[in-house]
Parts: sequence; C-alpha cells; structure tokens
Amino acid sequence: MDLGIKGKKAIVCASSRGLGFGCAEALAKAGVSLTICSRTKEDIEKAADQLSSHNVKITAITCDITTEEGKNKILEASDSPDILINNAGGPPPGIWSDWVREDFLKALNSNMLTPIDLIKKVLPIMIEKKWGRIVNITSQAVKAPVPALGLSNSARTGLTGYVAGTSRQVARFGVTINNLLPGMHDTKRLIDLDKAMSKEKKISFEEARNLRKDTIPIGRYGTIEEFGNTCAFLCSQHSGFIIGQNILLDGGAVNSTI
Ligand code: NAP
Repeated sequence: MDLGIKGKKAIVCASSRGLGFGCAEALAKAGVSLTICSRTKEDIEKAADQLSSHNVKITAITCDITTEEGKNKILEASDSPDILINNAGGPPPGIWSDWVREDFLKALNSNMLTPIDLIKKVLPIMIEKKWGRIVNITSQAVKAPVPALGLSNSARTGLTGYVAGTSRQVARFGVTINNLLPGMHDTKRLIDLDKAMSKEKKISFEEARNLRKDTIPIGRYGTIEEFGNTCAFLCSQHSGFIIGQNILLDGGAVNSTI
C-alpha cells in the first residue's frame, strides 16, 4: 500500500533501537525524512547509517529527550515537521511503597510532560500546514495496569487523558493524535526483563522467555517491524479519520472484549 507520505518530514524520539527504531524504519521506507535521537552517540549514528539505505535524509541527534536542552536540540534540527513520534525510556519497576515524590516527578517528566511539550511545539506548525500526524508510544499498561509499573501506569495514563481532549481540539485542522500501546515486543528492554526473570526464578534465559511468551495468546513476542508498520499507517494519508485512539499491539494479551 502506498502510504502517501513520501517527502514528509518526521521527528522520531528515542529511536536508536527498539520500538522507536521500528517506527523510524517504517517511515523511512515510506519515503519520509527523519530527525532521530538517543542519548548514545555511537548508537544513534549507527541507526542513521542503517536508515539512510532507504534513500531519505536522516539527521541524527545525540540528546536526552526528557531535558529542555534535548527537546530544543531535536526541534531545532527538524525543519517544519509533518510527523512527530513521541518515545522515551520507561520508568523502573517496584512496589507502591518504594516510590517517593521525586520518582513520580521523573516518570511524569519522561512519559507525560516531555511528549506534551513536544506536541505543543509542533502543533502550531502542523495546524498552519493543515496536516500533521502525532503518535505517542505508551504501553498496554494504560488499558491493563502492570502492578510493578506503578510509575509508568500513572504517567502514561496522564498523557492519554491529555491526548483524548487535545486530539479533538485539533482534528479540524487536519492533525491527528493517537497512541500506540505496545504489549511485549522483542526489544532490549524485554531481553533485560527476561534476564531478570531467569535470575529470580533460577531458570535458563530461554525458559524465562518461553514462560513469558506463553502468557500471550499468540504465543510469541511482537516484532519492531510489526510495531513500526502500524505506526507508519497511523502517519499515512489513509488514517485521517482516526482521532484520539489507543491502539493495542499486544498479541491478545489484554483480556477484554472491547
Ligand atoms: P529499548 O529497546 O530499550 O529502546 C529504547 C530507545 O530509546 C533506545 O534507542 C534508547 O537509546 C532511547 N532512549 C531511552 N531514553 C531516552 C532518552 N531519555 N532520550 C533519548 N533517547 C532515549 O526500549 P523499547 O522496548 O523500544 O521501549 C520503548 C518504550 O516503549 C519505553 O518507554 C517502554 O517502556 C515502552 N514499552 C515497551 C514495551 C516492549 O515490549 N518493548 C512494552 C510496553 C511499553 P539510549 O539509551 O542510547 O538513549
């Protein structure tokens, strides 16, 4: 399918690997020029090299997207973006009694206030062009809380509430804002969680992985390609009527009827 976005320009945050990279690659394949970022210079430059094989302009920025400096750096590097993909690392796991105010402020900054700041910066540009696509990578934890991820549950639900209202305020200007909710995808983050489980349960890495895969109706982890292609569709010309939605990509893991 021709996504109809060849020649558009996108910012893809936190994209040297994992879900962010999957989104960047699917957009590059659709002919979209990219400004990408991550905190590790070597990794983001390597990602830029890989993405440039799709014959689009790639600008790689080394920054922490959750800082004022990082947000300014990526916005300055991207010339009049048509597409924004919001992403950043997730907060650490724990239990309700572990988390103090500072932990909440950090999680809110990374997974709620940073995407909101970037949305507010790009919206006037997109409204002026009467076209724009914003996709936020959140989590299945928005629909079904993961108890150990209380910081993530809180911050991402806050962003979801903001998007629910704001997407309806800007829809008339040709700008769509939606959220993509990953379930378990085969990224470094998942490998780290599998390693932690193998250590905790004193089982092999493969056994830990299989145990976790068995909890998903499809019986496997999602791929970053599947995730990226869904993101690219949400950024396409065909998705203009999708407003303020929370699209779950979880292999059926969240057990609900709607
Ligand atoms: P990942 O494989 O660890 O990749 C994270 C990417 O983000 C890396 O490129 C990393 O590079 C970059 N990054 C992290 N923090 C950053 C920051 N402050 N500024 C700039 N770049 C940053 O993670 P992932 O699995 O793709 O997950 C992406 C997001 O989806 C996370 O918020 C995660 O919690 C959420 N999520 C993932 C899953 C899953 O199954 N994978 C499920 C639910 C939710 P540097 O470290 O070099 O900065």
